[in-house]
Amino acid sequence: MGEREENFIEWLNNVLFTAQIYDYRYPVKGMGIWMPYGYKLRQNVINIMRKLLDKTGHEEVLFPLLIPRTMLEREATHIKGFMGEVFWVTRGGKSRLDMELALRPTSETSMTTAFRDWIQSWKDLPLKVYQVVSVFRYETKSTRPLIRVREISTFKEAFTAHATSEDAWRQFREAISIYKRFFNALGIPYIISSRLPWDRFAGADETVTFDTIMPDGRALQIGSVHYLGQRFSKAFDAKFMTEKGKYEHIYQLSYGISERVIASIIAVHSDELGPILPPNVAPIQVVIVPIPYKEVEEAVYKYARRIYDELKRRRLRVHLDDDPEETPGSKFYKWERRGVPLRVEVGPRDLENGGATLVRRDTRERLFVKLEQLAEEIRRTMRVMLREMKERAWREFKARLKPAKSLEEIGEVVKNRMIAIVPWCGSEECAHEIEDLTGYKILGKPLRKPRKSRDKCPVCGRSSITILYVGRSY
Ligand SMILES: [Zn+2]
Repeated sequence: MGEREENFIEWLNNVLFTAQIYDYRYPVKGMGIWMPYGYKLRQNVINIMRKLLDKTGHEEVLFPLLIPRTMLEREATHIKGFMGEVFWVTRGGKSRLDMELALRPTSETSMTTAFRDWIQSWKDLPLKVYQVVSVFRYETKSTRPLIRVREISTFKEAFTAHATSEDAWRQFREAISIYKRFFNALGIPYIISSRLPWDRFAGADETVTFDTIMPDGRALQIGSVHYLGQRFSKAFDAKFMTEKGKYEHIYQLSYGISERVIASIIAVHSDELGPILPPNVAPIQVVIVPIPYKEVEEAVYKYARRIYDELKRRRLRVHLDDDPEETPGSKFYKWERRGVPLRVEVGPRDLENGGATLVRRDTRERLFVKLEQLAEEIRRTMRVMLREMKERAWREFKARLKPAKSLEEIGEVVKNRMIAIVPWCGSEECAHEIEDLTGYKILGKPLRKPRKSRDKCPVCGRSSITILYVGRSY
C-alpha cells in the first residue's frame, strides 16, 4: 500500500502542486490558488455542468458576494446552522458599518429575496437559476486542499422556485438525475443517500447527497440536493398569484457541487505518480514528445511539428514538447505526473514508417498508428479510456462497500478503509446509538422505499426495513 492510501491528504497536496493544478501555500488558512493548468481543468469540468443545467432550463446569474446581517438572519433554522461559520465584514475604511455584511456562506437568503421581487404570478414559475461563485465558511476543523477550505472557490449553486410541492418534488428528481449524468460523465462512482434529519442542510425538509470514497477509505460528499419547501418563502414572504387569483408562498429547492469534484477526479483516477485525467476534461489531451537521434534530429522535430499542426487542426487539445535540452525520458515522467491521458512518441522509425506511437497514461499500452489515422485513433482511444477508467473506478468503489451485521463488524469494515452497509430498523434512537457506539458517521440511507428484511438492526435486534451507510468521512 502506498502513500496514496496511507497518507491521502499529503499525497493530494503534493500531487496538486506537482501537476500544477492548485497551489495550497497561500498564506490565508483554507485558501488556495488555481494555477493555469488547474484552472483549465476546472473550466472544463464546470462546462459539463453548465451544459446539463442550460439544457434543462436553468439560467446562469451572478449575485453580490455580501449579504446584510438582517437578510441572513431572517430564516431561523438556517442561521442557526450557519452562524458559527460566517465571516463578517464590519468596517468600511475607517468607519464601522451600520449594518454588518456577511461573506455569503450559501445563497438561499439572497436568492429568496430576489425571487420575492421577480415572481408575480404562476406564469413566472418554475424559475430555475444557478451561479458558479466563491462562498466563504469559517471552518474550525483542519482545512484540506480542495476538500475542506474556507473559500470554496468553485461553488455551483442552483435555486429553483415552484408553484406546487408536486412540481418542486419533480424538480428534486431532475436535480438528482442531472448530478448522476454529471458524475457519470467524469467517471466518478457514488452512492446517493438521504441524510438523516439531524444531518440535513440547515433549513431543508430533505437532503440527498452524493458521496464517493477516497483512497484512504473516507467518504467525500460531492453533491447535495435540498428540498426547502416553503420555509424560506414564508420567512421572506415570497408569494405568487395562482391561476385562481389567490396568493401562495413559492416552493423552493437548492442544490450544489464544489471543487470537491476536482479532488474526486484526482483521487479516483490516479496512481502513485499522480492523476490520470479523464480525456474529456484534461486541459492537454495529447502531448507529443519527439525522440531525436543523431543525424535525423532536424527531420524528427519537423515531423513532430507537422503532427502537432495536424492534431491541432483536428481540434484536439494537444501540446508539443520539443525542448532539445530535456531528455524524452524526463518528459515522459513530467507529463505522466501532470495526468495527460495520451502521449504521442515520434522517433526516426515512426518517421520512416509514416506514423507515430500512441501511449496510454493509464495502462501504458503502446500502439503504432499511421499518420492518416492518428487523429481518429486518438479520439477512439480517448473514448475507450474514459469507459475503462469509469469501469475501474466503479469496481474499486464497490469493493469498498461491505455489509456489517454487528457493531464489531462495522468497526472491522471501517478500519479496513471501507464503508459499512448496516441493516437498520428505522428508529432514530438506534441510528444515534450506532454513531455513538462506533464513533463513525452515518452518511445516510438509500432513496428506495423501506421494506422488511430478515436482517436485524445491530442495536435493538428488530427486523430491518432499510440500510445505513456508515464510515469515516471528510
Ligand atoms: Zn434498531
